[in-house]
Amino acid sequence: MLRIPCPYCGIRDQDEFRFGGESRARRPENPDQLSDEEWAEYLFYRDNVKGRHEELWVHSYGCRQWFNVTRDTCTHEIVGSRRIGSVNG
Ligand SMILES: [Zn+2]
Repeated sequence: MLRIPCPYCGIRDQDEFRFGGESRARRPENPDQLSDEEWAEYLFYRDNVKGRHEELWVHSYGCRQWFNVTRDTCTHEIVGSRRIGSVNG
């Protein structure tokens, strides 16, 4: 089980959190102007990085805040976490 450092509450067990996917996936500003292929790329396709990866998590059974986590997808080591909008986030 992962121990995830919520930037608002501190370290908690993974059971309190929900995974939200890649943190760098940004909603297109003009989705009505995208082709079906471009919209599908945003909705369904991710990089599946091997190594350090930026992810979104929500502390759903705690403060209910979304935040960024840097995790190694090979070892599951959590390198750090930070609030959305903070430096590097
Ligand atoms: Zn929290």
